[in-house]
Amino acid sequence: MRVIVFGQTGQVARELAKRSAQFDITALGRAEADLSDPAVCAKAVAESNADVVINAAAYTAVDKAEDEEALATSINAEAPGAMARACAAKAIPFLHISTDYVFDGQGENPWRPDTPTAPQNAYGRSKLAGENAVRAAGGAHVILRTSWVFSSHGNNFVKTMLRLAQTRDQLTVVDDQIGGPTAAGDIADALLKIASQMVQGAQGGTYHFSGAPEASWADFAREISAQSGSGTTVAGIPTRDYPTPAIRPLNSRMDCSATARDFGITQPDWRQSLAQVLRELNV
Ligand code: NDP
Repeated sequence: MRVIVFGQTGQVARELAKRSAQFDITALGRAEADLSDPAVCAKAVAESNADVVINAAAYTAVDKAEDEEALATSINAEAPGAMARACAAKAIPFLHISTDYVFDGQGENPWRPDTPTAPQNAYGRSKLAGENAVRAAGGAHVILRTSWVFSSHGNNFVKTMLRLAQTRDQLTVVDDQIGGPTAAGDIADALLKIASQMVQGAQGGTYHFSGAPEASWADFAREISAQSGSGTTVAGIPTRDYPTPAIRPLNSRMDCSATARDFGITQPDWRQSLAQVLRELNV
């Protein structure tokens, strides 16, 4: 299976590239395909001999997006739309990653793929516009919504907690946002499993994939402290005591049952994936 991946340096993109022993993966970085230029992205697909295309690149600076919504929308919506149309023209499947931030965060029920969306911040709006553009292209596609991504690369919550633990004995962490931490490696495995099935004619659509069990950021921080042996204690605080430019949804729970039913992909235990990431970081 020949796979074109948009993104080289990101958390999920790096994990996809690591799996190139099993799959013929070509990763396109910013130099080859800048997502702020959708036509370049479409041309890269049109000129490729790919069996399937995965978009692992995105504008992911959630707070900065409040001031740069036009740029975020170009990268998160216009470029994926152009990629999806180019894939449809070649009759090859397109896999795109989206986010729980397309939901409003109210209540405590897990979001289903068909739950109505209502993003609360600019990043979420740009990602929802991307989903709509991919669907409108009319080709075979999977939109995989995930949440709380962590890995041994890039910027993420695990690395932030480990860094803070070097200088602090106690941390205060938000405990009223509930979701599923998800390892980038698990997302890469899920994407490649989905890609194989899409190449063989699976139907596709919109799906959810996140780690289990559900946790608050404070729970996540406590597990990082326990597994790393840092000894840092974690005190929970409400979101209202940790103001950020972009509103974060309180409820990020996702119902991933359709992903298990249609693709045979079950929710990974994020605590086991965390142990793997800590090993990679030599912690
Ligand atoms: P990262 O923030 O780790 O990486 C983003 C990637 O996008 C980088 O490779 C970056 O390249 C690339 N990129 C950004 N702007 C451009 C551009 N203009 N042209 C080309 N490449 C660009 O992302 P993740 O791996 O964490 O996220 C993967 C997907 O998962 C995204 O779709 C994201 O929206 C989604 N997601 C992420 C969550 C998270 O917690 N991180 C939660 C839910 C969903 P460069 O290094 O050159 O900037």
